[in-house]
Amino acid sequence: MLLMACLLYARIVGMLSSIKKFILLVWEPHRHGLFEATLLWPQVYSRTNKGTIVPMLFVLPKMLFLFQTLQIVDKTECFRKWQRDISKFVWQGKKPRIKFKILTDAKERGGFALPDLRLYYESAAFCWLKDWLLLEDTDVLDLEGFNNAFGWHAYLWYDKVKINKVFKNHIVRKAVFNVWTKYKDLLENKTPRWLSPLEAKARKRSNMEANWPKYWEILEKDGDNWKLQSMEKMRDKVRDWLHYAQIKEVFKLDKKLGFQVEKSKLETELLEPKTKVLSRMYNLLLKWNTQDETVKSAMIKWAQDIGHNIMFEDWERLWTTGLNFTACNALKENVMKMIYRWYMTPVKLAKIYHLSDNKCWKCKENEGTFFHLWWTCPKVKAFWEKIYNELKKVFKYTFSKKPEAFLLGMVGQGVVKKDRTFFMYATTAAKDTSREALENTRSTHTGRMADATDGLYATGRDDRQNPRSGRGDGRRRLEKI
Ligand SMILES: [Zn+2]
Repeated sequence: MLLMACLLYARIVGMLSSIKKFILLVWEPHRHGLFEATLLWPQVYSRTNKGTIVPMLFVLPKMLFLFQTLQIVDKTECFRKWQRDISKFVWQGKKPRIKFKILTDAKERGGFALPDLRLYYESAAFCWLKDWLLLEDTDVLDLEGFNNAFGWHAYLWYDKVKINKVFKNHIVRKAVFNVWTKYKDLLENKTPRWLSPLEAKARKRSNMEANWPKYWEILEKDGDNWKLQSMEKMRDKVRDWLHYAQIKEVFKLDKKLGFQVEKSKLETELLEPKTKVLSRMYNLLLKWNTQDETVKSAMIKWAQDIGHNIMFEDWERLWTTGLNFTACNALKENVMKMIYRWYMTPVKLAKIYHLSDNKCWKCKENEGTFFHLWWTCPKVKAFWEKIYNELKKVFKYTFSKKPEAFLLGMVGQGVVKKDRTFFMYATTAAKDTSREALENTRSTHTGRMADATDGLYATGRDDRQNPRSGRGDGRRRLEKI
């Protein structure tokens, strides 16, 4: 007993001192503008040249460490503020051109995998919740629930928080519980398998036993229905007939909601795995969070332009394997920019700067929409025709000339598998040439406008690598003017 008390004391003291250390070392600087300091990182980013996400690689481990050690964010406004700061940094103070949700989405779904701090915080909360749900680590449970009046599952599932307000008067419990209530219905819409009615009904005291019978252990199938096992079968789990009757009452109430038969996502992603719980939970939450973005606006616009629907599978293939033709990030970035219709057009510029002229920079006749500029403009058409003819000569066979293949890299069956990588390189190079040419015509065509939008149109990093490319030229030309 004394030994237990000593151990517990050591744990608490250890925890308190580490909490103090974290507040001093990590939390305070974060509160006081460490994120403002990250705005200095563009220098790092231009030097390392590895893409927009690089600075996040410095911040993320620190933040994850913090989230996992201290679950105390009461109000979630700070995440919005941090997100704003990150966005400001990513776009270098300019107007964002890709939605934050798409930026954070996973690469397999066409996103940019920018870490979403709020979701990471919430996933870390689930790592804490894991102990409360599993009821295995009694030391942690005693420490975190030292003044609980009911079992953990009573708070988590049977709404005892309303009766016993003390539960939420605890800084960590409150923060973790808030995350739980946010996702509870999404994660478990029926009575979960891991729920232990016995633990929920038991009065809380210290040094409670660990092995509480869960629903999946005490239910049995009766035709199409689920029923509680007989008292004989549960002999070693219940104390007496009264106890059994109490459990039966709870069971009757839970039955109204129905029982989760198969393992839920919460079980497979959080409760069962021993490792990588944080990233598993993050991926799960991310999937839900970005679900409504599945039909992304850029995809709709492409379908309208091309005149027929592109199958969702084709998009998926493009994100998962289509980009793997090269290891070069700059080339990948070019493909992504095309998919998300990043490049400025006369129509967009006219809208932004209230200009009367929105004609194509090349033919100066038609309206300069994105698709016109890249595909239907007669001048561009001739250019693509040349590329197409050359490719046919190289491949020694013919294939159909589709915009989705040339612009988006959805190669399709027309091109033999072994030629696809070459096709991707050739079209990406062609697009880059076309972009440069466009930029040059634009800067000669509308000098003032080019000045106003300098850097918006150009593909930042590429230009730094290649001083001869469009943006530099545009500048020099402007200087001459
Ligand atoms: Zn044109």
